Amino acid sequence: MGLIPYKNEVYLDWSDEKNVSAMQAALKDVEGQLGGSYPLVIGGKRLETDGEISSVDPSNPSRIVGKLAAATEREADMALDVATGAFEYWSRTAPEARARIMLRAAAIMRRRKFEFLAWEVFEGGKPWNEADAQVAEAIDFLEYYAREMLRLKDGVEIYAIPGEESRYFYQPMGVGVVIAPWNFPTAILTGMSAAALVTGNTVIMKPSEFTSVVGAKLMEVYEEAGVPEGVVNFLPGYGSEIGDYLVADARTRFISFTGSMKTGLRINELAAKQIENQRWVKRVIAEMGGKDAMIIDDSADLEAAANDIVKSAYGYGGQKCSAASRAILHRDIYDEVLGKVVEKAGALKIGAPESADVNMGPIISEPQFEKVLSYIDIGKGEGERVLGEDPGDPSGGYFITPTIFEVESRSRVAQEEIFGPVLSVIGARDFDDALRIANDNPYGLTGGVYSRNRDNLERARHELRAGNVYFNRGITGALVGVQPFGGFGMSGTDSKAGGPDYLPLHMLARTVVERF
Ligand code: NAP
Repeated sequence: MGLIPYKNEVYLDWSDEKNVSAMQAALKDVEGQLGGSYPLVIGGKRLETDGEISSVDPSNPSRIVGKLAAATEREADMALDVATGAFEYWSRTAPEARARIMLRAAAIMRRRKFEFLAWEVFEGGKPWNEADAQVAEAIDFLEYYAREMLRLKDGVEIYAIPGEESRYFYQPMGVGVVIAPWNFPTAILTGMSAAALVTGNTVIMKPSEFTSVVGAKLMEVYEEAGVPEGVVNFLPGYGSEIGDYLVADARTRFISFTGSMKTGLRINELAAKQIENQRWVKRVIAEMGGKDAMIIDDSADLEAAANDIVKSAYGYGGQKCSAASRAILHRDIYDEVLGKVVEKAGALKIGAPESADVNMGPIISEPQFEKVLSYIDIGKGEGERVLGEDPGDPSGGYFITPTIFEVESRSRVAQEEIFGPVLSVIGARDFDDALRIANDNPYGLTGGVYSRNRDNLERARHELRAGNVYFNRGITGALVGVQPFGGFGMSGTDSKAGGPDYLPLHMLARTVVERF
């Protein structure tokens, strides 16, 4: 297939008035569509249910973004049946044809970009630049995985012995259950589902209950792009009601999950149990939480380091698995860096992200808001709060200002994932101590070092325990095809989304040998 080489989608330039006007128009247009209803889509049929999910705007929780049908086990069962049936056809569809549908989905999403951004603002509470990066990432996943499928469609070269032909190639697996979190509602749901679809599997897409409208919009894109009925099924519902059922069912071939460690481990455990009629060992691709550290040593560019700590800690209010939640500062530069970080974080503008100049929006939901508050209380008992205020009444939006604690490395706020705008700052005696502190945590997703010391960088290259390690830059915002993303330890199965090893996780490798 003749295609231009893969390149990342260019981010929007917000200094261009045309983009600002287009965004304002999209916000107005989408605002007029708030409160709409979205059914399940199973086998191309739209289905209503007795239960309902109300997705609200976290900046203004009395505003309903959309009402979604909520699947029960009954509809989950239907979806599994339909996806099992559709696999017969889709698994035999040519890889090129599947790739073309993904490329068309990318083109449609690009055409609807401002609309997607606007939904992200209202449902996800994303500032414009964060929403843009996320939709660009979704487009990248579609473009990249389409090309990856073309690269892998005939298998890969292996050796043979004289008189024989040996072939090694991939084939689709079966029904994949794709379960997504709320924090990257377009990018992660698109990435996980596109990888499963382009490799010839059928998919049940379960978005997060907090961002299911964005999931419904992705379903529209897939339908318009020509994904056949039943090949992708849209199944919003509460994870607590349908999650176990989908994971445990014998028809499920694999689960592609991104979310918390707790849910990921539960899925892993349930999927491992063989039940009646089960004919395979289920595969689990699980990307989970993080407690990501940035080390700043005494040779670093301190101004640049402070800027990137603030960007990595407070981008999307720290609600990124990759967010810097621990800053480990060499004692000789501790006061200077902390001072800069406090000043820069304190200057961020917090508010409803409909406005272009907002740096940080709300926390996604009331339970998450309460969770972050409980950690702020814990932090007050464990160390000194050097930035942050107790938030006001959440009925006006789930806003929490940037918060910084000076704490010991074993304190709970420095060990457990909070998933909010809370940074723990920890002092280190020297680089050894800094590495030890960074690695003394069960997670291992992202990590960074700011240093001009070559020996320190070379050590961290191998010894900093994280799936994605970044030097002298921020630690969030992995680019598809450029920074394959996924974690070690309790951060997941290191599946490296957006990288060359990702698609084979969704396929069965087959060796066929013929003697002549
Ligand atoms: P979560 O509570 O674990 O939920 C994730 C998804 O799992 C949701 O769709 C949820 O449905 C569903 N779920 C809940 N219980 C389930 C069950 N028993 N079986 C199957 N599915 C179930 O996580 P979250 O709060 O949405 O997302 C934040 C977490 O995701 C953080 O820990 C963050 O670090 C992690 N994350 C990791 C990555 C990565 O690449 N490593 C990327 C982004 C986020 P409901 O919404 O209905 O509960």
